[in-house]
Amino acid sequence: MCKYSVVVPAYNEEANIGLLYERVKKVFASLGESWELIFVNDGSRDRTLETLQKLAQGDPHVKYLDLSRNFGHQPALTAGLEHASGLAVISLDCDLQDPPELIPDMIQKWRDGADIVYARRTNYRRDNFLKRQGSRLYYRMLSRFTEVDIPRNVGDFRLVDKRVLAAVNEMREGSRYLRGMVAWTGFSHDFVDYERPDREAGESQYSLMKLIKLGMSGLFNFSSLPLQVGFVLGIFSILFGFIFLGYMSWDVLVRNSKYEFFKFLVVVMFIFMGFLFMLMWLLGEYVGRIYNEVRKRPIYLVKEKGNFGKRR
Ligand code: UDP
Ligand code: MG
Repeated sequence: MCKYSVVVPAYNEEANIGLLYERVKKVFASLGESWELIFVNDGSRDRTLETLQKLAQGDPHVKYLDLSRNFGHQPALTAGLEHASGLAVISLDCDLQDPPELIPDMIQKWRDGADIVYARRTNYRRDNFLKRQGSRLYYRMLSRFTEVDIPRNVGDFRLVDKRVLAAVNEMREGSRYLRGMVAWTGFSHDFVDYERPDREAGESQYSLMKLIKLGMSGLFNFSSLPLQVGFVLGIFSILFGFIFLGYMSWDVLVRNSKYEFFKFLVVVMFIFMGFLFMLMWLLGEYVGRIYNEVRKRPIYLVKEKGNFGKRR
């Protein structure tokens, strides 16, 4: 067992691995603590695996997992996290957008008592207008609609204590949104601010589709709001139908107006549609509950035990 683990998912990153390794090594040399660097090769199509094999031969600190195919960033990161043995585990990207030089600051905050230390980016200048505004809107939606307080402007560059990691490893949900799952544990957290540089070499491996998929996981895994849409639609539809029916009836009975029969039908349809929406919401509630069950998140997490004999 070592004190610190660094976990790095890598997809087509042959050009960055060497430099990342050098920089991580330097950081830990100055800290003088035991460490391991775990790479996860996420089905790369370039020479990422060969580069890792060579590196691991030359330095026992370097470990690697080779996934059978490209599973995506979050599953790859999950694999690495489950193989980490450190007391504190740091996850970062392979492209050096998450500078390893921040690790000592993160470790300091951890020593000061934070169980989760997020690296929070302070700049969005480099992204184009659309990505910047999109991400701002997304984070706003996320904090409004989800029951978990997921911090803004943090990605997957963070340090977690091993008990946080144990809790995350227990969550067996398939579509993973790790930053949400880490926040969900509710352990104490702190931030280290930094300016996020551009990717060192290669192209972003996050296509728009992958980004949207990740975003959806965040919204759907941490909120049951989408399921309640049917409820709201149903109420409105029924209300609308009854108001119009009332108005038409009054018009016919009191003012002797004449309506064609199908107009009544249209209004009655609104009421029925409302009931349909409500039924869909009911189904949604059950689906939501089933989802909660199959996701198998722990029911509770204990932070500390008093007088139970041996601690933890
Ligand atoms: N990555 C991965 N599998 C994928 C896509 C990305 O393991 O299918 C890794 C990638 O090698 C990098 C990290 O996830 O270490 C973040 O990806 P990237 O830098 O392309 O995302 P961006 O910074 O552009 O959002
Ligand atoms: Mg990147």
